[in-house]
Amino acid sequence: MTETASRPQPARRGGLAYLTAVLDELRAKGTYFKLRVLDDQQAPVCHYDGREVINLASNNYLGLANDPRLIEAAVEATRRFGVGSGAVRTIAGTMRIHMELEEKIARFKNVEACVVFQSGFAANAGTVSAILGKDDFILSDELNHASIIDGARLSRARIKVFRHKDVAHCEELLQEVAGEPGHKLIITDGVFSMDGDIGPVDKLAALAGKYGAIMMVDDAHASGVLGRNGRGSVDHFGMHGQVDVQVGTLSKAIGALGGYVCGSRDLIDYLYHRARPFLFSTSHPPSVAATCIAAFDILEREPERIERLWANTRYFQGELRRLGFNIGGVNTPATETPITPVIVGEGRAAMEFSRALFDEGVMGTGIAFPTVPEGKARIRLIVTSEHTRAQLDRALETLERVAKRMGILQ
Ligand SMILES: *Cc1c(COP(=O)(O)O)cnc(C)c1O
Repeated sequence: MTETASRPQPARRGGLAYLTAVLDELRAKGTYFKLRVLDDQQAPVCHYDGREVINLASNNYLGLANDPRLIEAAVEATRRFGVGSGAVRTIAGTMRIHMELEEKIARFKNVEACVVFQSGFAANAGTVSAILGKDDFILSDELNHASIIDGARLSRARIKVFRHKDVAHCEELLQEVAGEPGHKLIITDGVFSMDGDIGPVDKLAALAGKYGAIMMVDDAHASGVLGRNGRGSVDHFGMHGQVDVQVGTLSKAIGALGGYVCGSRDLIDYLYHRARPFLFSTSHPPSVAATCIAAFDILEREPERIERLWANTRYFQGELRRLGFNIGGVNTPATETPITPVIVGEGRAAMEFSRALFDEGVMGTGIAFPTVPEGKARIRLIVTSEHTRAQLDRALETLERVAKRMGILQ
C-alpha cells in the first residue's frame, strides 16, 4: 500500500459534510458522546477505557451475560455445531438447537409457539410490519420503543399515538376508527425503558377484547424481571391467553442476544412465512441458542436471582429517595422496576453528571433529548441481582458527593 492509501482521507467538500454539521451541533449542545469501551466482562464492577467502575448501566439484570454455565453451553455448542448457522432459517439455517430454544420458550411462556429473531429490534420491527398493512391501524403508546415505531412505519398502517399509559385516550382513538374495515393493533411496552414504569397490559388487553383488536406487548425489559420466574408482564398481570403477540428479548436479562415472539401456532407459522428479518437475515450461531436454553433453565431453577434483583432495586431506590434525588414520579412516570431514572433536567447537565460520575468510578447512562423529552434529561441506573450491598453503598456515596458538588442535590 502507498503512503496516501493507508492514511484516512479528509472529508470531501459537499458530499457528507452536512453530517459533520450535525455532529458540531451536538458538540455545541453538550450531548455529543464517544463510545465507552469495556475492557473486560459485563460485570457489577468492571473496566471501561481503563477505569474501574461500578457498572449501573447494563441490562444484564441477572448477571447471566458471563455466567460460567452459559459460557460452557456456548463453548460446547460451538465445538459440536460450529460458529455459524450458514444460512437464513428458511433455507438451510435452521439447526435442531434453534427449534429446541423456540420450544423451550413457548413452554416457559405457556403459549402454543414461539419464533426467535436475531434481536428484539428485529422481532418487533419484523412482526409489526408483517402482520399489518396499509389499510390497518396501530394504536401505540407515545413512549413505545423505536423498534415498534419503525415496524409501524414499515407496515404502512395508519399510526394513532395515545398518551403515555392513557387507556381512555387509547379507547377514544379506537372509537374513531371502529367503523373502518382494517385490523386494529394495540401495542405497548411491558416495561418502559427510560422511566421503568409498567404498561397497563391488563387494561389494554381488555380494551382489545372489547373492540376486537389485536393485543401486542413488548417485554424487552420485563423478560426475566417481571412475573413468576421472569415470565414477563402478561404473567405479572395474570393475563395468559389474552395477549395475542408477546415479544421478548434474549439480549437483556437472558444475557445473550436475540428476540422472540410468542403466540398461537398460526401466528408463528405466518411469521415464518412473512417476517422479513426471519426470511432475509441469517439465523443465530448455535452458541447463542445454546446459551439462551441454559439461561431459561436458570430462570426456572433459580428464582432467588430475581428476588435478589428486586431486593437490590428496593434498597437502591429507597436510598436515592432518602438522599433527595428525583427518581421520577413528579413530572415524569414513577419507576416500578429496576430501571432507575435520576432526573437532572437539562441535557448538558445530565451528560456532565454522567461524565463526572464515570471519573469517580460509577457508570450510569446519560440520556437527553430526543430520547427523552426536553427538560427531562437524566442518568439511568440499573442495578443487577449480582451487585453487593457494599458496591451499591459505594455508588450511592459517589452519587451524593458528585451531585452536591454539581448543585444537582442541595
Ligand atoms: C432493548 C429493547 C428492544 C430491543 O431489543 P434487542 O434485543 O436489544 O434488539 C426492544 N424493545 C424495548 C422496549 C427495548 O428496551
